[in-house]
Amino acid sequence: MAKAQETVLEIDLKALKYNFEYLKSKLQANTNFLAVVKAFGYGSDACEIAKYLQDLNVNYFAVAYTNEGVALRKAGITQPILVLHPQTINFKSLIEHCLEPSIYNAKILNEFITVASAEKQTEYPIHIKFNTGLNRLGFSDDAVESIISKLKTSEAVKVKSIFSHLAASEDLNEKEFTLNQIETFKQIADNFTNQIGYKPILHACNTSGVLNYPEAHFDMVRCGIGLYGFGNSEKENQHLKPIGTLKTVISQIHTIKEGDSVGYNRAFKSDSVLKTATLPIGHADGIGRHYGNGKGFVTVHGQKAPIIGNVCMDMIMVNITNIDCKEGDEVIVFGENPTAEDVAVTANSISYEIITSISQRVKRIYISK
Ligand SMILES: *Cc1c(COP(=O)(O)O)cnc(C)c1O
Repeated sequence: MAKAQETVLEIDLKALKYNFEYLKSKLQANTNFLAVVKAFGYGSDACEIAKYLQDLNVNYFAVAYTNEGVALRKAGITQPILVLHPQTINFKSLIEHCLEPSIYNAKILNEFITVASAEKQTEYPIHIKFNTGLNRLGFSDDAVESIISKLKTSEAVKVKSIFSHLAASEDLNEKEFTLNQIETFKQIADNFTNQIGYKPILHACNTSGVLNYPEAHFDMVRCGIGLYGFGNSEKENQHLKPIGTLKTVISQIHTIKEGDSVGYNRAFKSDSVLKTATLPIGHADGIGRHYGNGKGFVTVHGQKAPIIGNVCMDMIMVNITNIDCKEGDEVIVFGENPTAEDVAVTANSISYEIITSISQRVKRIYISK
């Protein structure tokens, strides 16, 4: 790959394939794979990622919001798409684009049936979400009877799946809690299936669930972060490859005298002679202000250069005092080493946040080495 001459996020599609195959190797042959491509494909561009995964025969996609699903349809994605957190205002558009809603409470169920009926739908696929401990979205376990009696009033919808979401699948200290969630989900699913008289698809695991709870894969798993190269543990990170490398360049180098300051509000004041590099990436690109003032770092020719002073909207300044480099040289923000996770922890964050924060103005480049 040519050296970066501006800020770019390079996406390695071969690494995506590698991660997909690794995650699939953890599944039974007949377990379906749903790829989570919400939040712009975790920052990697959902349409590009989904097109590539569709060619690898992924079974399902999921997004958070309706407009994300519409974008996938417009990009030519024909596989089923689950919308995890739809809002009633978008139901008409959701149906127009053959997107499948997660139904998480009675209000959404009633309103979706009303819209689907008005749109003259029959057996429109819906997914019933149950809350088993995350306490975020979902019906409680005692709602099964009322859901089923509502469903029996209409031909407009049909339950394609029943699902739940684990609260702490990456944290083995919470194993008892997670096993309890899985058991609760099983009971709900049995009860639901018996009463409705057919077998919807069952699913509960995200990436860490896939890796840590093979007994809970059910009929399908929902993987996001693992596809992008992170496994929420040092051990699993070894088996995965980060697909994104965020690169930039040195725009200018300054020599800072003792007593000089660097950046807005003079947040950094030097007590010695320093060399700084100014880089064309700032908080508007996704490097938040919490990485400033010595917390975060970038890598110049393999060496760590800490961010000094406040992060600006479009720029950061880094300390390159002991690094042999010049204007125009390439800088790595994250990639294979250090990874996005390594950088995120410097500001008490996680890989998920830093990769989904890379803003739209950063150019994405796709490679398949
Ligand atoms: C985001 C999300 C996932 C994917 O989780 P990862 O940890 O990224 O694999 C799965 N299921 C639901 C309901 C989600 O919101």
